[in-house]
Amino acid sequence: MHNADFTRNVAKALNDAPQRAHLEHVITNFMRGRRGLFNDDEELAALREAANAVKRRVVGRLAEVLERLEASCAANGIQVHWAETGEEASNIVLDITRSVGGKTLVKSKSMVTEEIHLNKTLEANGCEIRETDLGEFIIQLIGQTPFHIIAPALHVTKEQVGAIFAEKIGIDYTEDPDRLQAEARRFLRERFRRADVGVTGVNFAVAETGTICVVENEGNARMCASVPRVHVAVTGLEKIVDRLADLPLMLRMLVGSATGQRISTYFNMVGGPRRPGDQDGPEQVHLVLLDNGRSRMAGDEELRQSLQCLRCGACLNHCPVFKRIGGHAYAATYPGPVGTMVMPQLKGLDEYGYMALASSLCGACGEVCPVMVPIPSIIRRLRVEAHDAHGAVLDHGHDAARMESLAWSLWAKVMTSPGLNAMARKTMAALGGALPAVGPLGAWTSVRVRPKFSSKGLADLLREEDAKEKGSK
Ligand code: SF4
Repeated sequence: MHNADFTRNVAKALNDAPQRAHLEHVITNFMRGRRGLFNDDEELAALREAANAVKRRVVGRLAEVLERLEASCAANGIQVHWAETGEEASNIVLDITRSVGGKTLVKSKSMVTEEIHLNKTLEANGCEIRETDLGEFIIQLIGQTPFHIIAPALHVTKEQVGAIFAEKIGIDYTEDPDRLQAEARRFLRERFRRADVGVTGVNFAVAETGTICVVENEGNARMCASVPRVHVAVTGLEKIVDRLADLPLMLRMLVGSATGQRISTYFNMVGGPRRPGDQDGPEQVHLVLLDNGRSRMAGDEELRQSLQCLRCGACLNHCPVFKRIGGHAYAATYPGPVGTMVMPQLKGLDEYGYMALASSLCGACGEVCPVMVPIPSIIRRLRVEAHDAHGAVLDHGHDAARMESLAWSLWAKVMTSPGLNAMARKTMAALGGALPAVGPLGAWTSVRVRPKFSSKGLADLLREEDAKEKGSK
């Protein structure tokens, strides 16, 4: 997508007053929940340091930890598959489904399967895949992509859900959340019973023990992992922790940052296929490890910090841009600050360079990130790279962009020349002392406090301060 398309999406989202009010309400609740849980700043700082250390240890020696994970999984009877691209990963899931003579699948919420467009591949090859997370189920019915990484149908109101269910699954219209949930459950139970394969994402894969961990609140991931004959877990190759002992901290940071809960309703730990004597569980468990640009990221000391991400969504909730425009305006699998940081790295600046501009760089995302990913500085770097290597991606020949470029080079000249600086200062002071609200500056200053110019330079002010101090002695 081009920057101009993004600008159009943003304008559309900003003009959608009901959506903005709904977003404000829901996201403020997420923020309140997180703040209520992590209300001791000192303790939170210590927890973030510890969580950062856990993930840093892993992404710094990714190849070694992955090898250990593969060996531990194999010892547990979990079949590990490596996929370099999204297409390869989707085809692996398709092949596994075909190998058991199946074509019906159920899936729990997983952003990585969105990244690889798994549903599209499976459906194009005659399979039926049903989303079973309530939010994902709703957006699948209306053919949309997730709006938020942890709340995919956050933008859909209960009245809209009532209308969607009435039209798509043939129930009488209701906007009672309990009845809507019961209807979704009734509809999905039948799909679980018939499914050949259950697909889940992975929140943590433990290298030490070969355990696949999935965090959820609805119990549908547990059903996906235990009811069908085959369980396939798909994950980006960064979702690993070294030791089982790392889990309590990481779970606390993930769940608390995401929803403000002390612990999620379900925490699933899959240690292999059904064993003799087990009452339930799949006959086969597969783990698909997806690269899709991640090893390239791991090779760069600064960018590899993006791989520490837990996909908790806290940076989205605290981002003033996301809070106003919502997820769909970005036209990317991962929206918000995390998307701005990872999409250009996963898919390249050619395609996603425009996202490097989708940030005010206020720093809120970096401050709330539970694993201390320096999101703003990574976005800044990508913005510079996008501009240097792909200026056209950002500009598209727009006059506004050229004007901005001209304005910044003029500003640089004035700020590096004492003579010009003094002249500009005096002129601005004579014109009333504030940035004039004319031309493109009109739009900029209409939503900002107009900066005031001093008739004196910093050196003059410091000299005056010095003189004052000497005079008072
Ligand atoms: S970058 Fe940090 S805050 Fe954002 S989703 Fe990832 S872990 Fe959460």
